Amino acid sequence: MLSNVDLSGLHRVHLALKDVRDQLARGPRLVKARDNQLAQSDADKAAKEGELKQTRLLIDRKNLDLKTSEAKLKDLDRKLNEASSNVEFDIFKRQIAADQVSSSVLQDEILELLDKVDRLQKELGEIAERRAKLQADRDQFAQELEAKSVILHQQELEHAVSLTTEEKVIPESIRAHYRRLVDAYGADSLAAIDNGMCSNCHVSLTPQLRVQVEGGTPTFCSSCDRLMYSPK
Ligand SMILES: [Zn+2]
Repeated sequence: MLSNVDLSGLHRVHLALKDVRDQLARGPRLVKARDNQLAQSDADKAAKEGELKQTRLLIDRKNLDLKTSEAKLKDLDRKLNEASSNVEFDIFKRQIAADQVSSSVLQDEILELLDKVDRLQKELGEIAERRAKLQADRDQFAQELEAKSVILHQQELEHAVSLTTEEKVIPESIRAHYRRLVDAYGADSLAAIDNGMCSNCHVSLTPQLRVQVEGGTPTFCSSCDRLMYSPK
């Protein structure tokens, strides 16, 4: 049985490599999140523009109704002047009063809609401002990320080289087993023992196994199969 094999350096390199790779994977996800915010902003803008268009169409329609109503009032005024009896006069007078009310309602509605147009335009301006900020932030972030990823790729390469060196401590007899674990669990294929327990699954080692691991004999955890070592 091999002893005095120090696996802590190997585990350190595994963890460093994992950290670098995690950082490399996280970057594009963070850019994507910013792209999603931009897409949401564009969707908000499109919805607001649609609402603005509908509001303007409604104003046009109400303006047309108002014109019709005003023409009708003019006509009623003429009829009123030409009324040949008191009865006719009263009828026109009442119609004029009713039509004046509906004209005034239309005018109020148009004013309200014009206010809404102002509000929507203001909101569209705010959306455009926010979007410009998001875009600038996204572009700056992506640029910084690119610069950082050059360094990270360099580190990844260095760790990969160190890993090959550190892996030389793995005895030939367990190399295939170790390789399978690395494929399955990556950096978590190794586990330090902590207070007589496997730090991956927290199952206590038998005293015999504990002595074995502490003596530097590569040993797989009987519970979670991780390659255990005693931290130096
Ligand atoms: Zn375990």
